Amino acid sequence: MEGKGSGGKVLVVAELRGEAIHPVTFELLGKGREIVEHTGGELWSVVFGSNVDKAKASELIYYGADRVFLFNDPVFSSLNTMVYAHNLTRLCREEKPDIILIGATCFGRSLGPRVAAARETGLTADCIDLRIDENGELIQIRPAFVGNILAYIKTKTKPVMSTVRYKVMRAREKDKSRSGLIIEKTAEKSFQDRIRLVGEAIPKKLNIADAEIIVAGGRGLGSAEGFRLLGELASLLGGVVGSSRPPVDDGWIRKEHQVGYSGSIVKPRLYIACGISGSPQHLFGMKDAETIIAINSDPSAPIFRVADYGIVGDLYQIIPLMVKEIKARRSGLG
Ligand SMILES: Cc1cc2nc3c(=O)[nH]c(=O)nc-3n(C[C@H](O)[C@H](O)[C@H](O)COP(=O)(O)OP(=O)(O)OC[C@H]3O[C@@H](n4cnc5c(N)ncnc54)[C@H](O)[C@@H]3O)c2cc1C
Repeated sequence: MEGKGSGGKVLVVAELRGEAIHPVTFELLGKGREIVEHTGGELWSVVFGSNVDKAKASELIYYGADRVFLFNDPVFSSLNTMVYAHNLTRLCREEKPDIILIGATCFGRSLGPRVAAARETGLTADCIDLRIDENGELIQIRPAFVGNILAYIKTKTKPVMSTVRYKVMRAREKDKSRSGLIIEKTAEKSFQDRIRLVGEAIPKKLNIADAEIIVAGGRGLGSAEGFRLLGELASLLGGVVGSSRPPVDDGWIRKEHQVGYSGSIVKPRLYIACGISGSPQHLFGMKDAETIIAINSDPSAPIFRVADYGIVGDLYQIIPLMVKEIKARRSGLG
């Protein structure tokens, strides 16, 4: 594939969260496999860590990589992006991948642009899909104009770099029979770094992106108090509380609960939208939920167009009825 198209060697940057590989990495490997199967290229991955071994690198092979570059060095014990960027830039210079895919996580969003600048290439951020055109060129698809249209972007420089949002691609099944090459690399430590780490923020307790059941509230709640009611329903169902953006902007609930274009993308089994109108920016984050129930007093609210079940009415009447009914059934009275 050298010279023609962009999909020859695709490099997926693995992200570690503590000891575990972030699932966005497996999603990117799934998409990477699709690309190289189309172009006849090879899928590579790179993992950086202070305690990563070949077993961890093998995980990346089981999910689709043909070759893994393994950097195991204490220099990666803190999440100082400058260290990662420096070594990823070196790797790109040496190995010359055609495409680099990075998760659009906080870490990836900080890493990608530094490497793109160092390699003097373009980066398309926050992609929601990737395709290969008839010339073997990568088409990067991402929302534009606050999510109202989709932009199809080609990068003319190499490597082509994209960050891809979590939960928009599908990982392949883990295949332990796959084999591949693990190449150990030496990290370079001596470089200019003006960043001084003063500590780490306490990790978020809520992981809304991976929740199976979400009870979400919008401006229709009227006040922060409404989230107490949603919290009761969510905990009865074993789920978590989500939100549209206005309650976050008004300080009723923390940002980590926000679903949508500028929040998290979620794919739960059940999404109950309460007092949410269904703007394109909100739908962007939850339209792929398996089952959507919408509760809204306005029968013409756009949320009903994506809902599997719609309840027209006042959420302050409907949710207490749902809570009462669930409790009655649980106690055998229903
Ligand atoms: C760059 C950008 C990024 C954005 N990112 C996001 C994002 O990530 N997530 C997001 O959600 N939005 C986002 N938005 C905002 C988005 O455009 C909408 O403004 C927002 O989604 C509307 O939220 P809402 O549905 O809660 O409020 P509204 O649109 O005001 O809807 C409230 C609904 O509640 C109903 N209602 C009122 N009272 C009751 C009641 N008692 N019982 C039942 N129903 C009731 C009303 O009929 C109405 O349909 C973004 C906007 C921009 C410009």
